[in-house]
Amino acid sequence: MMTVLGCIADDFTGATDLAGILARSGVRISLHIGVPTQPPSETSPFEIIALKSRAANVSKAVAETRAALDWLQRAGAQRFFWKYCSTFDSTMEGNIGPVAEALMNDLGTAQTIYCPAFPENGRSIFMGNLFVGQQPLAESPMKDHPLTPMHDSNLVRLLRPQVTKPVGLADRLTVAQGASALRTKLDMLNAEGVAHVVVDAVADEDLLVIAEACRHMPLMTGGSAIAMPLPALYLADGTLSADAPKIPSPKVGRGTVILSGSCSAMTNKQVATYINKSAPTYRLDPLEIAKSGANAVLNWLKLQDLSQAPLVYATADPISVKATQDALGTAAIGKIIEEILALCAVAMRDAGARRIIVAGGETSGAVTKALGVTHLDIGAEIAPGVPWTFCQSDGNQMALALKSGNFGAPTFFTDAQNKLDLI
Ligand code: ADP
Repeated sequence: MMTVLGCIADDFTGATDLAGILARSGVRISLHIGVPTQPPSETSPFEIIALKSRAANVSKAVAETRAALDWLQRAGAQRFFWKYCSTFDSTMEGNIGPVAEALMNDLGTAQTIYCPAFPENGRSIFMGNLFVGQQPLAESPMKDHPLTPMHDSNLVRLLRPQVTKPVGLADRLTVAQGASALRTKLDMLNAEGVAHVVVDAVADEDLLVIAEACRHMPLMTGGSAIAMPLPALYLADGTLSADAPKIPSPKVGRGTVILSGSCSAMTNKQVATYINKSAPTYRLDPLEIAKSGANAVLNWLKLQDLSQAPLVYATADPISVKATQDALGTAAIGKIIEEILALCAVAMRDAGARRIIVAGGETSGAVTKALGVTHLDIGAEIAPGVPWTFCQSDGNQMALALKSGNFGAPTFFTDAQNKLDLI
């Protein structure tokens, strides 16, 4: 199958978010963790490559993204999507602008659009200014982000120092007039040499207009929401045939284990909800594992009935997390916990678990790495932005649910199990 749209995401959970949204169409989506080392074979209509380039230095981010583009071109894609965060996470130098400009050069295209809006999640753009709920970006919690603090809300101004060519705006007044008005505006800006166009969007209807006007562009850039209308548009105009491969529902063994390394507010609720259900649970004590390693938890897991979906969690409230970090160092203890949860995943796979639910973006990265998984087939969506995924690990068909931070409802751990049982 020829790939219709090649997508590159600047982090892993951004890629799964995009995958889940595209999978709503029922069309098959493949997700690769890093640029595949093998040439494309048996590709899907939508191919996504997840990079870890958001906070990387500019030249590394550009090089990795160009390698991803090259692979996607070899998969047959002629249109491409560069996915970044809906809060436009970037530094003064990049990486959103430099990466987009490098992709444009390689594709020989003169213009692209920037639309990180995600109205369903409260991200909207008006007159070039990005809002998080009712707050301008630079007044939202993003102003204090440890890696990419955002001190300006205006996307045109943010983008300008990141690129060499002119930056412009197609505002909401144009978008409100529909796809052909927007097309005309983009053509006008193109004639003036404006290569980078921020496009306003405050509601899902705007995203539809923008996707319709821009679906033939070699390169579109934005958050995941702007890609949402694309599968239906491609099916309607025949770019994607009606018999395009569908999302798979392979037979997966029933043994389940849940591993939680996220300490977000929502994950704390999800763990508490699961404990209340009197499911088998084991709390990893950071001080204890830093001293004695994984033996105790692995011994506990060996005694568990995997049909009861036991949960191992390091999840803790902010005060205990802070105390642990002060005692053991933030990065050091983070890594120890990730490694132990990854060991649990491998041990449980070897003991017969075929369904693994993981909470935590970094934790998911550690678990997939330990399981040797680099290719995921996207399945049904459990919660917005979190699909079940299918993969092979050590010759076994497995299902993984990989959830970052605040995604999912308080009942996520049971929601995920129920969703897979329905397929
Ligand atoms: P999220 O998606 O919520 O950001 P991540 O897995 O990306 O979750 O990051 C959580 C980090 O916190 C991981 O490095 C994890 O190992 C670490 N961590 C988990 N539990 C604790 C704890 N009790 N104390 C300190 N750090 C923890």
